[in-house]
Amino acid sequence: MATVLVTGGAGFLGSHLCDRLIARGDDVMCVDNFFTGKKSNIRHLLGNPRFELIRHDIVHPLYVEADRIFNLACPASPQAYQFNPIKTIKTSTVGMVNMMGLARRCGARILHASTSEVYGDPEVHPQSEDYWGHVNPIGPRSCYDEGKRMAESLMMNYHASHGTEIRIIRIFNTYGPRMAPDDGRVVSNFIMQALQGRPLTIYGDGLQTRSFCYVDDLIEGMLRLMDQNEHTGPVNIGNPVENTMLELAESVIRATGSVSRIVFCPLPTDDPRKRCPDITRAKQLLNWTPQFPLATGLDRTIEWYRSQLKGSGV
Ligand code: NAD
Ligand code: UDP
Repeated sequence: MATVLVTGGAGFLGSHLCDRLIARGDDVMCVDNFFTGKKSNIRHLLGNPRFELIRHDIVHPLYVEADRIFNLACPASPQAYQFNPIKTIKTSTVGMVNMMGLARRCGARILHASTSEVYGDPEVHPQSEDYWGHVNPIGPRSCYDEGKRMAESLMMNYHASHGTEIRIIRIFNTYGPRMAPDDGRVVSNFIMQALQGRPLTIYGDGLQTRSFCYVDDLIEGMLRLMDQNEHTGPVNIGNPVENTMLELAESVIRATGSVSRIVFCPLPTDDPRKRCPDITRAKQLLNWTPQFPLATGLDRTIEWYRSQLKGSGV
């Protein structure tokens, strides 16, 4: 049993992580500024004596005691992280300095939620951890991509200079229940559009690819990386099965039984053409492979969105 700080704990991934930590007996401090997170994601944990919710923005210093820190605070959808790009940069830089300072003072091990976005629009396929990436440093996605790259650099330097125990996970597109219906990412958009009989909005020609990991698989990989004692990472965690956005749209229409059609919209600037993780390192170091095929994950996710729509009376 440990005292664990989870920043961004009221968000999509953070709330699932809090569930797993509470279930295994840890004490959890959940920190969130509720920019994209929601109390409803962690409401079921509020009465638990081992769970504590702290409204706090990691851009400001935080003085608590923890054995382990999972730093997930940062908006993840392009719509959310481009809403206030300077704030996004501050969260990944100033916020990260604060979290590293906290880890160093407490002697805590810290895991940071990095991203496949550090690879940018990749020239190497699939992407392995030793690929340095192809990021536009001044484009609209740079507030997120470069912030995450800086955070990785900061961690490596704390590790080298102070021996801080670090874990870097590079997360590839992950989906599942509790991803906010208005989040703007492709899986939540398509499912909501299909369930409401609206057209599914494909950006560009729909031939760009992503690899979609179900949330339970992702959290398992994250915990395995944190719990082992040897490797700092970075380690890619994602599902290596690659889909075009057209294929995803068709899968969602089929799984929901929707009558929605597909419409084509302009492709956002710097939208990566391809993305697929090389998970050799995760397999070798963590004995991790994803267990949920897209069809199973989509069914579970659609069920959750249906229940949300029913609850809201829409
Ligand atoms: P999310 O938007 O649902 O969760 C992010 C959480 O962080 C929210 O609860 C938000 O309110 C909180 N937050 C944002 N800025 C904060 C700040 N300054 N101080 C305190 N809290 C703050 O997104 P998610 O999908 O759960 O992503 C969680 C983490 O995983 C993020 O760091 C994201 O970059 C990373 N990640 C996610 C994916 C994915 O596919 N879901 C992929 C790559 C990386
Ligand atoms: N996308 C789409 N329709 C949507 C939302 C997104 O076609 O309604 C595309 C988007 O252009 C990108 C892919 O889906 O090529 C994944 O987008 P998302 O925002 O989920 O994540 P990211 O681009 O960060 O991987």
